[in-house]
Amino acid sequence: MLETRLLPFDRDSANQAAEFLKYGEVVAIPTETVYGLAANALNENAVRKIFKAKGRPQDNPLIVHISSMKMLPPLVREVPELANRLAEQFWGGPLTMIFAKSNAVPNVTSGGLNTVAVRMPANEAAREIIKKCGFPLAAPSANISGKPSPTTARHVFEDLNGKIPLIIDGGDCEVGVESTVICFERGKIRILRPGAVTAEMLSEFAEVIVDKAAVEELRKGESALSPGMKYKHYSPKADVYIVNAHGEEFVRYCTKRARTENNVLALGAGVAENGIFLDYGENAQLQAQRLFSLLRKADELGAKTVLVELPDRSGMGLAVYNRLLRAAAFRVIEV
Ligand code: AMP
Ligand code: MG
Repeated sequence: MLETRLLPFDRDSANQAAEFLKYGEVVAIPTETVYGLAANALNENAVRKIFKAKGRPQDNPLIVHISSMKMLPPLVREVPELANRLAEQFWGGPLTMIFAKSNAVPNVTSGGLNTVAVRMPANEAAREIIKKCGFPLAAPSANISGKPSPTTARHVFEDLNGKIPLIIDGGDCEVGVESTVICFERGKIRILRPGAVTAEMLSEFAEVIVDKAAVEELRKGESALSPGMKYKHYSPKADVYIVNAHGEEFVRYCTKRARTENNVLALGAGVAENGIFLDYGENAQLQAQRLFSLLRKADELGAKTVLVELPDRSGMGLAVYNRLLRAAAFRVIEV
């Protein structure tokens, strides 16, 4: 077992992270979305270590993180004009764009696809570490595959202690859910995974289509454009259910369930907290920030059933809904 060091982000720890990464090691780093498990995106052996540490399916491609626009052209065959305009507006930030990949990107990184997903994070620590490396970093969420994504360094430690040499602590993630993933289709933008860069924001630039797999369960045999969307995800040990009821009605329903069942926990938007209820925030930004952390807390509290109030699906709410659907294995209770 490796000794896993946990260091606050500063110049020294950034140098150590870059050293490990140059040697083909993996390091967990903060980003504004969730913590990432980083490795040299262009080094096959290094990237394999990410899949191994996370237990991630081989066909689930990784996002390649860059710290400046000049790192993009070597990774891709071409950059559509629309992508340049979006980069100008949303990079650094939580937007991932999919391009035709160049031969510089190994197949392990792209999960065998001939495309590559690229993002420039806003987070200072992430940017600094990429810059020190001088190569792009593949960095999926730094959790064990299937578990809720990590939004604090402690979450990463819980999952990956003994499996990776270093975790850089940059505090709580501002956004709390993973980046928006888009691809381009004849001048249109298709959202494969909703995030903090919303459909509404993107529609200022081009027509936007939200991919069906982002908001509905795929039927057997249907293939996902974004391989990650087909896996069960973000799940605590407890059974999660989305409850389509709000305010008083939500509270009444959950209270009734808790009276007849053991270890029921309810996440409500702006509810008063007590033994059963936890507040997951009154707006989508707060809900995104808290969701994964609350799902982990549910496990700590020994919850068997977690009932979550159906979030508003506009703006960033769509990202919250998308993650919740997967945590709940698409189960929605109509009250
Ligand atoms: P994660 O790294 O865990 O945030 O997951 C990355 C997400 O981006 C997954 O849902 C992947 O399926 C998706 N993704 C990465 N690369 C591609 C690609 N080339 N084409 C489509 N989806 C991708
Ligand atoms: Mg992930």
